[in-house]
Amino acid sequence: MAKKQAEVITRFAPSPTGQLHLGHLYAALFARDLARKKGGRFLLRFEDIDTTRVRPHYYSEIESDLHHAGIRWDAPPLRQTTRFPAYQEALNKLKKLDAVYPCFCTRRDIQREIKNLVRAPHGPDGPLYPSTCKALTPQQIEAHLANGHEPAWRLDSERAAKLTGPLTFQDSFLGSVEVNHALLGDIILARKDIGTSYHIAVVVDDAFQNVTDVTRGKDLLESTHIHRILQALFELPEPKYHHHELVCDSKGERLAKRNAAHSLQSLVASGLTPEELIQLAQDSLA
Ligand code: GLU
Repeated sequence: MAKKQAEVITRFAPSPTGQLHLGHLYAALFARDLARKKGGRFLLRFEDIDTTRVRPHYYSEIESDLHHAGIRWDAPPLRQTTRFPAYQEALNKLKKLDAVYPCFCTRRDIQREIKNLVRAPHGPDGPLYPSTCKALTPQQIEAHLANGHEPAWRLDSERAAKLTGPLTFQDSFLGSVEVNHALLGDIILARKDIGTSYHIAVVVDDAFQNVTDVTRGKDLLESTHIHRILQALFELPEPKYHHHELVCDSKGERLAKRNAAHSLQSLVASGLTPEELIQLAQDSLA
């Protein structure tokens, strides 16, 4: 008997930290249309773990912006703030695997360390964390904890590479992409203040919601390397990826939340119809 194909499930996952702009609209349409084309389901998820930046009114504003553009989702939206215990469990699994280590460095400590190094490791956006705290002894860690220092937890990218072996992910635009375990270095997987990170939350929730196709802007391509590593370590299924083009302003720059002029609300207020909004988003791709 032929194996039944899994139902396609996509999601749009904004953070309620600002108003939606044309870039978000394009991302939401891309995810919705992929699900609709395959007779699947489209979900809305609020990525609200960074409670220091979330503003409560954005939840309903985001929903009404999407509604206005004719976008509907197929289940009540999931809020990541309801999922902290699952992220904690995931972090514990990484601790058991020895795939993370505690880091007590301040930003200033890291800058100083990088300056002192002859060859500091570099990633796509500049210097990477120089793995300073990886060398801490159990006694030093104890001493930090006894002094009330709360650690962040960082990926031990070297150990992760050993644990997972070579990995790839499949992208509808890029084909098969080889995972580079060292691309973002020993990146933070659990922040001191919130105890988790975008990376853990996204991976755990995509699996929890049975997302089969992760659609996101090309600007998040580097993060996908981390996500594949985490999926392998957590033994979660591997979704398909679609890293799409980004909507840009007239100068060719990526839209930013802080620029209110591009918000859907201000475009609607200026008289654009939902159809015109959608057209504008499509016409403004880089
Ligand atoms: N929450 C992420 C963002 O606003 C998108 C989610 C993802 O695809 O990783 O950029």
